[in-house]
Amino acid sequence: MNTTRSGSLTASGAATTGDIARAQDRGHDHGHQTVPSDLTLRVKALESLLVEKGLVDRAALDALIDTYEHKVGPRNGARVIARAWVDPAFKQRLLTDATAAISELGYSGHQGEHMVVVENTPKLHNLVVCTLCSCYPWPVLGLPPVWYKSAPYRSRAVIDPRGVLCEFGLELPEDVEVRVWDSTAELRYLVLPERPTGSEELSEEALAALVTRDAMIGVAKIAPPGEGSRA
Ligand code: FE
Repeated sequence: MNTTRSGSLTASGAATTGDIARAQDRGHDHGHQTVPSDLTLRVKALESLLVEKGLVDRAALDALIDTYEHKVGPRNGARVIARAWVDPAFKQRLLTDATAAISELGYSGHQGEHMVVVENTPKLHNLVVCTLCSCYPWPVLGLPPVWYKSAPYRSRAVIDPRGVLCEFGLELPEDVEVRVWDSTAELRYLVLPERPTGSEELSEEALAALVTRDAMIGVAKIAPPGEGSRA
């Protein structure tokens, strides 16, 4: 099974993150996606049962999902990154005690209690994974993308991080060290990407608009302004 799954991700070849994410978001119509489909069915069955027994309110569930899909998301994380780029004191606090620094901007709560921010430099690239399941910092990134939860990403990010990054369209020079961080329920990592060249004159808000979810997971870099996102 693992071989098949690894093969599937490998088969994506030079697909961009968007390609992988879109392919997986389309409803897991590949052979390797039987588990998520099964999981979806089980979740639906469980929800129906809980609603039927009057234990949960469907409207409350919808409100909760709406919050994480539309109100909490990577734009929050982007504001954190932009603040770190323009405010050295904030950046220092972010690298020292990420949970406290992030909550200064009002982002805290469930799945964001124990944050660690790791900084990319010209010689160091950080990549975040949850090898066990799908631990992810919800208050700053929203819900994890499907590929983040997939078995190929979870296993191969550790075994062959450079190969995985290549598949996301990110080829790093040999002299750049790649560090992989395994998020858990106790510690959730967020990547502080490098501020792109050509962004010196941008406002904090404009900087935040450059920051992508994928760059904060570490599977992409942030493109210079005007060049659009690589992933
Ligand atoms: Fe997890």
